[in-house]
Amino acid sequence: MPTTVSALVTEGASKPLERSTIERRDPKPHDVLIDIAYAGICHSDIHQARDEWGGAEFPMVPGHEIAGTVAAVGDQVSKFSVGDRVGVGCFVDSCRECDNCRAGEEQFCTKGEVQTYNAREYSGEQTFGGYSQSVVVDENYVLNIPEGVELDVAAPLLCAGITLYTPLTHWGAGPGKKVAIIGMGGLGHVGVKIAHALGAEVTVLSQSLSKQEDGKRLGADHYYATSDEQTFTDLDSTFDLIVNTVSADLDLEKYVALLALDGSMVNVGIPSNPGSIHAFSLANGRRSLAGSKIGGIRDTQKMLDFCAEHHIGAEIEKITVDDVNKAYDRVVDSDVRYRFVIDIASFDR
Ligand code: NAP
Ligand code: ZN
Ligand code: ZN
Repeated sequence: MPTTVSALVTEGASKPLERSTIERRDPKPHDVLIDIAYAGICHSDIHQARDEWGGAEFPMVPGHEIAGTVAAVGDQVSKFSVGDRVGVGCFVDSCRECDNCRAGEEQFCTKGEVQTYNAREYSGEQTFGGYSQSVVVDENYVLNIPEGVELDVAAPLLCAGITLYTPLTHWGAGPGKKVAIIGMGGLGHVGVKIAHALGAEVTVLSQSLSKQEDGKRLGADHYYATSDEQTFTDLDSTFDLIVNTVSADLDLEKYVALLALDGSMVNVGIPSNPGSIHAFSLANGRRSLAGSKIGGIRDTQKMLDFCAEHHIGAEIEKITVDDVNKAYDRVVDSDVRYRFVIDIASFDR
């Protein structure tokens, strides 16, 4: 018998999120039932709830930054026990057979990984995300949240954390490397912490200097305002790696010019519109323009262990389930320091 639980549901792109209920399946032999404690609000939730990327399926329950506690396990589960502190990120299944799945890069499953919400299980069942009291997930897609990082500040690591950890480690951020992070939002601020912990020299490129003090406190060595044209002159041909976390359209041309010889600019922000760049801007300086999408399960666990070891969690503003629509508007206005996290217990208040 499926269980009925409270959730925040939106019925359409221009509709608000409202308290409602959804059904969660009974745990199958390899499933873990998780009581959700916290769910982070990722800008991707907003893009999807407002159908800014197209193809949204309603009703929708967003949320792919999930932290909670194991409440029950199927009889064949070997990795988790009741009471364990766990997380769920952006996907809850993949084919497990394609080259990418076998390589631990399930986020690039060639059959299509099953997104945590706004998607369908391979069985056809609609997936609903973390803005809800519980979720049932196959144990192979559940992460262990180590002691040393609290559940509320851990939740955003499940998307924001891994989305920055992957390009930073893949493109070799570390001692002697100059790394710039564009955008001091949910992704960006975690990126600053991780890049600093990896030993890189970290620069934040933000629209203004309003968050400069925080940036420095979180580990940035330098902080520049992109509204000041002088920034682009001062930093010409400087960085080995630039990670672009911006959710809106940017003039890529201007930022690529900030790359040193053989530097790479990796886009993780996904604005609605395509960008453009002149080939000469890349040819000059043998620069690379790349992209990156979250990370696989193995790397997500590595990231969580790394964050626990370095005492890295997100900087959060905790909100109740009734504050979520307002929070969405504030995220879009870049008015968040630095991740909203929904206290799921507030469903009962
Ligand atoms: P966020 O908290 O809203 O942060 C985005 C930041 O971008 C803002 O804080 C702001 O930083 C900057 N920004 C916003 N509008 C801007 C504009 N018009 N011009 C210049 N800068 C602007 O969002 P997020 O949750 O970090 O997500 C960022 C993007 O990454 C979204 O598009 C999201 O969908 C995407 N994403 C991708 C992946 C992936 O796997 N690739 C995973 C998660 C999210 P400043 O105030 O410092 O300028
Ligand atoms: Zn996300
Ligand atoms: Zn696969």
